[in-house]
Amino acid sequence: MFEYSVARRRMVREQIAEVGITDPAVLKAMEEVPRHLFVPKLLSHRAHQPSALPIGYGQTISKPFTVGLMTSLLELKGHEKVLEVGSGSGYQGAILSHLAREVVSVERIAPLADRARETLDTLGLRNITVIAHDGITGYADHAPFDSIMVTACAPHLPPHLISQLKDGGHLLIPITTGDEQILYRYQRQGQEVVVEQSVSCRFVPLLDGVKEADAQLENESISENDTGSGPEGDHLA
Ligand code: SAH
Repeated sequence: MFEYSVARRRMVREQIAEVGITDPAVLKAMEEVPRHLFVPKLLSHRAHQPSALPIGYGQTISKPFTVGLMTSLLELKGHEKVLEVGSGSGYQGAILSHLAREVVSVERIAPLADRARETLDTLGLRNITVIAHDGITGYADHAPFDSIMVTACAPHLPPHLISQLKDGGHLLIPITTGDEQILYRYQRQGQEVVVEQSVSCRFVPLLDGVKEADAQLENESISENDTGSGPEGDHLA
């Protein structure tokens, strides 16, 4: 819809390009992917605001800047197979699917995985697969990966993720250090793992085990005034 594309262009200009993310492919993907389809209908008018928004099940869609920053840090060239841990709404996965050859995205909350898959199917994105799976173990069936992006905060670097990364590949993951969360970019160099970059951030926690739909999960409601900025909110500094 016309008004959404205008809102998207403005979102990309003001929240991504003007704050220093300049990779043209990232900017183009974020202009093209209809972000409003990844948020609950009740909140679609707020889809382009500079904030995380609730998507149900206590989870959030990351704010546009976070998606732009994390995507640009992977420096994708187009030939890569990427693992995303934490599909959430599917929005970050949709952006990755525009920039990589293949995306495998895993989500531990099964009904969220189902919804993300439906949204991505509606958009006709065929190079992304969403699977209900605990990403702490990576996804061995599709390994190795050229790049891995974790969109939930871990207490430490999960060893499976490093072992499923190709030599030279990048792993982006927020890790809790004391009271702080730091977004790290690691590179695998042979049997070594080198930290390349870090920045302060805030994400929902990486938890283990797959969660099927249940009454308590289903009953969670989303209100229009919900900011998505509770402990599960995502405010990248
Ligand atoms: N990338 C998402 C936002 C991620 S929110 C988007 O674009 O909308 C983080 C997601 O990680 C949540 O949906 C949470 O359920 C999921 N998650 C947490 N721990 C996980 C794990 N071990 N494996 C897979 N997904 C996990």
